[in-house]
Amino acid sequence: MATEDGIIMDGKVVRDALLAGLRDQIMAAGTPAITLATVLVGDDGPSRKYVGSKHKQAQSIGMKSVGVDLPATATQAEVESAVKNLVDDVAVHGILVQIPLPANLNEESVLDLLPAAKDVDGLTTASLGRLVRGIDGHIGCTPLGVMRLLEFYGITTSGKRAVVVGRSTLVGYPLSILLARKGIDCTVTLAHSRTPNLAAVCREADILISATGMARSITSEFVKPGACVVDVGISRTESGIVGDVDFEAVKKVAGFVTPMPGGTGVMTVACLLENTLSAARMQGVAI
Ligand code: NDP
Repeated sequence: MATEDGIIMDGKVVRDALLAGLRDQIMAAGTPAITLATVLVGDDGPSRKYVGSKHKQAQSIGMKSVGVDLPATATQAEVESAVKNLVDDVAVHGILVQIPLPANLNEESVLDLLPAAKDVDGLTTASLGRLVRGIDGHIGCTPLGVMRLLEFYGITTSGKRAVVVGRSTLVGYPLSILLARKGIDCTVTLAHSRTPNLAAVCREADILISATGMARSITSEFVKPGACVVDVGISRTESGIVGDVDFEAVKKVAGFVTPMPGGTGVMTVACLLENTLSAARMQGVAI
């Protein structure tokens, strides 16, 4: 029997399509050596796992990847020297410094060493400045992943009302800029913890994106019937990973909704590789 539930925006399907497209472009160009370098400091388990999956997926589409692995005792000078070596290496196209760095290190000083062309995570001041000014550069992997999901599912953006909940420089703020860009043309509201009557603000959205980390806080009362709801939040609970969105209730109201897990999270590495390909292009690789 047909249900009236909204369409589930399946991140794995979109990720696989994106990776296949990247692989095809690399093969068609004769598999030039496009190289992603990662810098991992310390032995944080999840960080090690994320970096490992970045290498594995890079190699699966015909990219080279190199990993610089430094101990938790590495000094600021040692980390900066490792990053500078990669910046100076013309064979390296994209550099990802896995954050957070250990607390004794100055993260900003390390990130500031990355030139915009090689900053495939899109998190540096240079990259965010380019985003604001509309100059070509790399967009953060999570915001880019959200945009790719919207594109894949044919979500109309022009003239639509978008509400982004959460204003971090990692997710919410860059997303609000992307959605308001010429060509995307949403009318954007950027909501946060001081926004009064958040449910009413969210109910105005044709596209509602939540990136707060407040588990299941976006209930069906926050959603306009037929709206597109994208869940970025990740909360680890006793019953596993849950998102900001109360998925079971919201899917009955929304026109489109992402699951968590299986929605935005799985897009991140694919978007990192997309950025690495465009980094290579920016640095003169014919692809
Ligand atoms: P931050 O903690 O940096 O920002 C959270 C934002 O949410 C802040 O702007 C905060 O407002 C806002 N906020 C917090 N509580 C509320 C509330 N009750 N109502 C409205 N707004 C609220 O987090 P991040 O942006 O780094 O991450 C957000 C979530 O996304 C986390 O769960 C994180 O794990 C997840 N994440 C998921 C990724 C993915 O691939 N899916 C990738 C990266 C992050 P204020 O500014 O006023 O404090």
